Amino acid sequence: RTVYLSGNFCPVEDATISPFDRGFLFAHAAYEVTSVYDGRFIDMEGHLSRLRRTLEGISIPNPYSDEQWAEIHSELVDKNGVEEGLVYLEVTGGAYGMRDFAGPETFSPTVFLYADARPLIGDLAREGIKAITLGDTRWKRRDMKTVQLLSQALAYRAAREAGAETAFMIEDGLVTEAASANAWIVDAEGRLITRELSHSILPGITRAGVASLLAASGLEMVERAFTPEEAASAKEVFTTSSGAIVAPVVALDGKPIGDGKPGPVTRRIQRLYYEAMGADVAA
Ligand code: PLP
Repeated sequence: RTVYLSGNFCPVEDATISPFDRGFLFAHAAYEVTSVYDGRFIDMEGHLSRLRRTLEGISIPNPYSDEQWAEIHSELVDKNGVEEGLVYLEVTGGAYGMRDFAGPETFSPTVFLYADARPLIGDLAREGIKAITLGDTRWKRRDMKTVQLLSQALAYRAAREAGAETAFMIEDGLVTEAASANAWIVDAEGRLITRELSHSILPGITRAGVASLLAASGLEMVERAFTPEEAASAKEVFTTSSGAIVAPVVALDGKPIGDGKPGPVTRRIQRLYYEAMGADVAA
């Protein structure tokens, strides 16, 4: 596998970074995950503009222009022969001296990217996933995509322990989002409900993509927070993320949602999204 590390493409075995890197010591780093389908990137501009905002929020200068970022992404997927999958990108505060919380005036970032070939439309999209609910223990600036992912790593472990694939995180009696996806429910009137953007959730690029497809297809979207009880009794529940696109949620805390199968509205949104990315609808 060929990866990209701070200016060079190299075999993954040769990609080493300092143990004093601020990404390692302080989780002082931004990341993005962009999907590739049929050799094309889905919504690269959206990911790069969110990256700009995260970097600004955590005081790391953006090392490249959007054109340079796009070029590195393309070269990486070419070198690895990835037609369908994901590109992971991370920009850290870099390494300085030993362990200095504030660090230098201006950071000189470490940049790392790798490409992963995998199906974007897989079994989970077809059959659905099970979720548990659990408290949201993350920091309060979840609108920035940083690598402080310990809460989510533990949430995934708890989900696996319970025989589920993901967790819905709860704060003040309301669902914030899923462990690495935005959460949606379909109410009795067929409206699509997803939490409004704020510091409490990540502004998902897939969420934005689905929102614009809904507007164009006459489906009604309501942006508001919902409770886990509303999710449990909703007609349908699904999540959106770059990695799994639109994933039907068929059970919550061990109880089926609706009839325990992916519902018609979720299927329709999957089809709309797959069409927009140029995928065979029957995929
Ligand atoms: N929310 C969280 C906490 C995430 O980690 C992610 C993706 O990793 C998302 C939402 C979905 O964002 P996107 O659609 O941009 O992948």
